Amino acid sequence: MALDECTPFPATQEQAAASTELSMRWAVRSRDAFTPRPGYGLFGIVQGSIYPALRAESVQALTAIGFEGYAVGGLAVGEGQEAMYQVLDATVPLLPADRPRYLMGVGTPDDLVGSVLRGIDMFDCVMPTRSGRTARAYTSRGIFNLRNARFADDPRPLDPGCACPGCRRHSRAYLHHLFRAEEMLGPMLLTWHNLEYYQSLMRGLRAAILDGRTAAHADALRAGWAAGESAEGE
Ligand SMILES: [Zn+2]
Repeated sequence: MALDECTPFPATQEQAAASTELSMRWAVRSRDAFTPRPGYGLFGIVQGSIYPALRAESVQALTAIGFEGYAVGGLAVGEGQEAMYQVLDATVPLLPADRPRYLMGVGTPDDLVGSVLRGIDMFDCVMPTRSGRTARAYTSRGIFNLRNARFADDPRPLDPGCACPGCRRHSRAYLHHLFRAEEMLGPMLLTWHNLEYYQSLMRGLRAAILDGRTAAHADALRAGWAAGESAEGE
């Protein structure tokens, strides 16, 4: 990654412009300092806060320099999903189609699906691991808090379709017990589960893209999250 400044939010257009110009100067110096070699590449990072004109200028500056990939930075800093999507709608179509696009610091499964639909390829985020440590599980039926008393006697796997050890070997009741008892195995298993869920989410999206059914696949994922447990016939 090129060195950049993640523009704080909120920022006035003047503040965002000064920050973005700093990052674009650093982008030139990062490119100059990078030694091209097999197996390595350098990503430029688009900044510009929530201002479409600044985002467009940033894309223009970066593509003029030329990078192996392009990241969209400065999002998921408190602007909210709607503003984030507006920035992506204004930014992603300007990026070269033959280079990977990476949305930095995002997000929930819902954020990932909405961003993939807008042309993003790559993500990084603390969310699956941090949530796993605090008893939050991402599943095909939405978000569960394993501390919730409704799981105390629930013998079912957390997410029946999941291949992780927490789902294949243990019940929701046992995971609930681990968190209630403050056993370290609880955060470990839930972190593993959330990482597996994120991996399978992205595997499914990649397959759907190849099959030309991305929008329908996204609708099905969202329907599962919205249906929650009621669809399992409790
Ligand atoms: Zn699992």
